[in-house]
Amino acid sequence: MRKKVIAGNWKMNKTIAEANQFVDDVVNSIPADDRVEAIVCAPFPFLVSLVEKTKGTNLKVSAQNMHFEENGAFTGEVSPVMLKDLGVTHVVLGHSERREYFAETDETVNKKTHAAFAHGLTPIVCVGETLEQREANETMSLVETQVKKALEGLSNEQVTKTIIAYEPVWAIGTGKTASSEDANEVCAHIRKVVKSVTDEATSEAVVIQYGGSVKPANVDELLAQSDIDGALVGGASLEADSFLQLVEAGA
Ligand code: 13P
Repeated sequence: MRKKVIAGNWKMNKTIAEANQFVDDVVNSIPADDRVEAIVCAPFPFLVSLVEKTKGTNLKVSAQNMHFEENGAFTGEVSPVMLKDLGVTHVVLGHSERREYFAETDETVNKKTHAAFAHGLTPIVCVGETLEQREANETMSLVETQVKKALEGLSNEQVTKTIIAYEPVWAIGTGKTASSEDANEVCAHIRKVVKSVTDEATSEAVVIQYGGSVKPANVDELLAQSDIDGALVGGASLEADSFLQLVEAGA
């Protein structure tokens, strides 16, 4: 049985006081349960404080991006070494907003995925099609390319540990969720793609999340699907109550 991974991606929201308050509000309610893992993906300035606050608890802390280099002349960037040093456990890579606004490519996502593993971080690799691509029937081939390129050169063991998040761009922040069946169909396809580049055992073990307007009202139906192993949640992860409901749905 694959565990369910519920990750709240705060994106560029909250102040440090709000971030600390959120963690204070939820941290003791995150169950010690092998079936579910809860993660907050916070902006860089909050990571030190949140790692400190979550020590010894069941809530994990993720960054939302990083550079693939270890250090050097990259003004404004944050390296995997720095994240690991802070005690961060996960990092979101290739989010569609980074692909769209910050020139992230399949190639840089692949470099970052390797860098994450080189430094003991678990990558949450995002893939997904735009509305135009969906309407042009390109969803399956597009996610296939994105997944294959992101995972290129990884060992099967590393692929097993990778979290893949299927986030159709048209469903992000729009209130439009892919139907559970449509989302599951793409997630099942992603699992097949993983199998084609690794093996059956690896593809059966890899966690594949769905993201895009997930909320307490639709999370049960999504998580009940055969190939959806969790959710990467934006808007509905910002409030403590709603985040806890999502985590409970995974347990
Ligand atoms: P929403 O849940 O706000 O649609 O955002 C999804 C997302 O992009 C999570 O990474």
